[in-house]
Amino acid sequence: MYKGFLTVDTACNQCGLDYEKVDSGDGPAVFIILIVGFIVTFAALFVETTFKPPYWVHVVLWGPCILGLSIGLLRPFKATLIALQYRHSAVEGSVESGAQGDDGEP
Ligand SMILES: [Zn+2]
Repeated sequence: MYKGFLTVDTACNQCGLDYEKVDSGDGPAVFIILIVGFIVTFAALFVETTFKPPYWVHVVLWGPCILGLSIGLLRPFKATLIALQYRHSAVEGSVESGAQGDDGEP
């Protein structure tokens, strides 16, 4: 579904689904910031309290770890959010679909 590292192709090469309307925006980045931040923060706390290494060890450990996890998770998360957008027929600024069962109360 990608034609570049994160550039979405115009249509699916398997089923021809139109990708022109899909837009995951900042969604993947937000999830990755939270998930990678959680993992790395607690891993760094664990290493610090368990082994008490010098500070350069943290730089060598967590620098590549943050970069690798963030870049590695971008494509699957963007694809997942686009799949969810398609599954729930989410369209920017629209409430007409998915309003079934709404009784009109705010
Ligand atoms: Zn497809």
